[in-house]
Amino acid sequence: MVDPEIPVLTIEDLGILRSVAWSDDAQQWIISITPTYSGCPATDLISTQIRLALLEHGIRNFSIRQVLSPAWTTDWMTEAGKEKLRQYGIAPPVGKAIDEALLENTIVPCPRCGSTHTKLVSAFSSTACKAFYECQDCLEPFDHFKCH
Ligand SMILES: [Zn+2]
Repeated sequence: MVDPEIPVLTIEDLGILRSVAWSDDAQQWIISITPTYSGCPATDLISTQIRLALLEHGIRNFSIRQVLSPAWTTDWMTEAGKEKLRQYGIAPPVGKAIDEALLENTIVPCPRCGSTHTKLVSAFSSTACKAFYECQDCLEPFDHFKCH
């Protein structure tokens, strides 16, 4: 299962999948997910994908619960997930979620050439989850998956 916005990332890489547990009481699987952004259009799509994947495997007795607290942060993203983002040409989150307020002062290395001479072009890229940067050395524009 992959994030519909970033096809290389699985929901495990993103840390969206919180738990999968069998409930004896309800006689069903309880799938707990934490959406990345409230209002991120990908979230509905992700639970639909989980549904379809389970049905494909013949699992019909399940329910998907959205766990909104604690809120998802980019800190939950795995190192493997960050590396996949970089290879995909998207600069992974830098530092911890608390740095979000400092976005304008955060140095985001270019995912292509590694240069730290990058410039924030727009705090919102194709989706609210990403910011748009431009590399001053190789002149490539790139997305940065923001910390939050
Ligand atoms: Zn570059």
